[in-house]
Amino acid sequence: MPGAPNGYSGRISPPLNQMFGAQKEKMETDLIRIKKLAKKKEDENWEFRTFLKGYDGQNLDSVVHKLVKKYTESIDCTTCGNCCKEIRPILKKNDINALSKSLNTTPAQFKKEYVQKDKDGDEVFTQLPCPFLSDNKCSHYESRPADCKSFPHIHKKHFTTRLIGVMHNYSICPIVFNVYEELKNTLKDDFSVFQETFGDFGC
Ligand code: SF4
Ligand code: SF4
Repeated sequence: MPGAPNGYSGRISPPLNQMFGAQKEKMETDLIRIKKLAKKKEDENWEFRTFLKGYDGQNLDSVVHKLVKKYTESIDCTTCGNCCKEIRPILKKNDINALSKSLNTTPAQFKKEYVQKDKDGDEVFTQLPCPFLSDNKCSHYESRPADCKSFPHIHKKHFTTRLIGVMHNYSICPIVFNVYEELKNTLKDDFSVFQETFGDFGC
C-alpha cells in the first residue's frame, strides 16, 4: 500500500531490469484497463490458478518472488493508491494503538471515529477510501497497519496457498496483475500442456 515517496511499502530499491527486463515495456499500470482485462481473462485466470495448485515444476516461490521484486521496484504506489481505495485492511489491537498514538488520541476514541466490524467480525475502517489516504499517500505511513505493510502479500512463502487472494487482488493491484501475467508467460509451455490435457475440466 502506498506512502513512501517512491513507492510500495518502503521496500523500493533501485530498478532491477536484468532478470525479466525484456518484458518491462509490457507492464500495465492503467487501473481501468486492468479492470477490463480482469473481466476478459477471468476464465483463463481461474484455469491458470487450477494449474498452479497442482504445479510441481521449478521452485514456484522463487520465480514469483523475483517477479514481485521486479514489479514492486517498477511501480510507484504513490501514483496508484488503489488498494487504499478498494480494500479495507484488517486492524489488530497493535494497529489501532499505533494509529491512535500517531493521531494523538485514545484507542477508544479512535475506534469510535474510524472502526467498525466487518461480516467476519474483523475490525476494519468505516470509510473507503481509507480516511488516511491523502493525495495517494498514507498520511500515517510510519504507523500504518501490518495488513497495509504486507499488501499484496505475494512476497510471502507458499504462493499457491494465496491464490484466492491473488485472484481477488489481480483486478485491483497493478503489482499482482503484472506478476500473474508474467508468471503465465513464464510457465506457458507447461500451462499449454495442462490445457490440452484437461481442456474444460481444468477449471
Ligand atoms: S492506513 Fe489507509 S492510507 Fe495508510 S496504507 Fe493503510 S489503507 Fe492505505
Ligand atoms: S494497489 Fe498495488 S500498486 Fe497500487 S498502491 Fe496498492 S500495492 Fe501499490
